[in-house]
Amino acid sequence: MSFSLLNLSQPILKAVEEQGYHTPSPVQQQAIPAVLSGKDVMAAAQTGTGKTAGFTLPIIEKLLKGKPARANEVRALILTPTRELAAQVASNVATYGQHTKLRANVVFGGVKINPQMMKLRSGSDVLVATPGRLLDLYQQNAVKFSQLEVLVLDEADRMLDMGFIRDIKKILSYLPAQRQNLLFSATFSPDIKALAQSFVHNPVEISVSPSNSTAKTVEQVVVPCDKKKKSKLLSFLIKENQWQQVLVFTKTKHGANRLTKELDSQGISALAIHGNKSQGARTKALAKFKDNEISVLVATDIAARGLDIDQLPQVVNFELPHVSEDYVHRIGRTGRAGADGFAVSLVCADEHKLLEDIEYVIQQHVERKIEPGFEPVNALPPSRKIRPLKAKKPKKPKVNSSTAQGKESARSNEHHANSGKRHVQKRDHKKVIKKNRSKKGSSNNADPYAANR
Ligand code: AMP
Repeated sequence: MSFSLLNLSQPILKAVEEQGYHTPSPVQQQAIPAVLSGKDVMAAAQTGTGKTAGFTLPIIEKLLKGKPARANEVRALILTPTRELAAQVASNVATYGQHTKLRANVVFGGVKINPQMMKLRSGSDVLVATPGRLLDLYQQNAVKFSQLEVLVLDEADRMLDMGFIRDIKKILSYLPAQRQNLLFSATFSPDIKALAQSFVHNPVEISVSPSNSTAKTVEQVVVPCDKKKKSKLLSFLIKENQWQQVLVFTKTKHGANRLTKELDSQGISALAIHGNKSQGARTKALAKFKDNEISVLVATDIAARGLDIDQLPQVVNFELPHVSEDYVHRIGRTGRAGADGFAVSLVCADEHKLLEDIEYVIQQHVERKIEPGFEPVNALPPSRKIRPLKAKKPKKPKVNSSTAQGKESARSNEHHANSGKRHVQKRDHKKVIKKNRSKKGSSNNADPYAANR
């Protein structure tokens, strides 16, 4: 199949051709006609499937037909969970729309708001935004939605994980009822379905890979080893296999900094990217990594979300994530758009339970390979038999959220990189919900979903 069969205009086809794309990916083949038809869409597609072009191309096509955005107005709003993903999506919009006159903008937290307000003045045919900053801008009248035609929630699962539910609900309440809604998510958990029900109508459902499954072209391996030997083992693997471009995941920001130093001391050029780094430092590190000036980018989960690095051959889990679904997202960084990828997890005995949880989510055992010379003293116990997946109960939405002001940067500081902290937070929220419910006659409804249940 070729792009020319998808009813896209010449300027879009030209941009696609210049990107060197010959065939629409499966998600594009399904999403492009669905979006053009004007229907709502719910697509289960993880990063690497070409989902961004899947919604961007038909949105550009639709926008070419209508009237340009007036001052401060937005015609297509794309919400993303992180700054990096927002920047990435905006760069795709710019690329695919380069032969059109459409005006695209991007706004996210962690940088000055004034320049963003200035840009929004002339109107945005497409606006890519993270929720907190968008609310701040809305409250300051810098953005208006009376011309809004399309809303996209990109990586909706991650938005919920990051506690954006209330911000999203607030944003939805500011949008005109008559609009097209597109929801993209790597996984379709019951939480996402509950969210979808509240605003997506008779959607075209698209699924290009089964929920929570890992990309087919990614070879996964677990290397059992002792915790203390991990950085030596990583240096050894990088040198031995002559890996040129490796994305390494650590659990914490400090862990990322420490590992970067250790790799550097072994003569391996590395930079860290995480929530404590300024936006400028992150962008710089990513650019150096993409240009092969450094061979290792050490990242925490939230910082890495949405990184689009073409044909990344190698992902290493230096530590396993505490949230099993993050494993799927992490290794989704490699083997993108049909290319082969290799994901290695260095797993110590302490992480045995996390490994089992991951194997449950991906519904497969990951092959184990002990590296000679790095045999663990504390053996990694064999994983138990995998139980069939059970649907999770929808999570309670977070309560007690303060104003949007300042939340963005707080979130991007990876409050959930440390799962211990995250669980404490969850328990606190439960307490608040209980407390609010027990307040007799309280009009403060702690549960924004209550009316929908
Ligand atoms: P995404 O899933 O949107 O993050 O896209 C993953 C990668 O696939 C990006 O680097 C895109 O540039 C690339 N890509 C998107 N569509 C195609 C296509 N039809 N053919 C080849 N590569 C593509």
